[in-house]
Amino acid sequence: MSTEVQKPGWKSYPHGNLLEAGTSQQFKTGSWATEIPVWNSETCIHCLTCWIVCPDDCWVVEDGKIQGVNLDYCKGCGICANECPSKSKSIVMKGKKNV
Ligand code: SF4
Ligand code: SF4
Repeated sequence: MSTEVQKPGWKSYPHGNLLEAGTSQQFKTGSWATEIPVWNSETCIHCLTCWIVCPDDCWVVEDGKIQGVNLDYCKGCGICANECPSKSKSIVMKGKKNV
């Protein structure tokens, strides 16, 4: 008698391997980051570039102004810091242990 477990084949997975649409908010992926953006509200010129370029929609905007960054979903890619046009760099990436 064989005890081998039958694994499901790839054809049994849904297209794109997504079980349900619109579930990204349920998965707080911020723990993946090794660095996080640190925002300086005093030098920020509220151009909203960080909000536009962030692939995880982390930047919080109210009345056309940045209010802060939601780190629950930040993966630490650093795009926001790279693209921030503020002369004094209103975003700097820091290792989690240095914040
Ligand atoms: S990109 Fe920089 S200057 Fe522009 S809103 Fe974001 S933090 Fe402020
Ligand atoms: S580091 Fe990347 S994921 Fe985190 S806020 Fe900046 S652009 Fe978004």
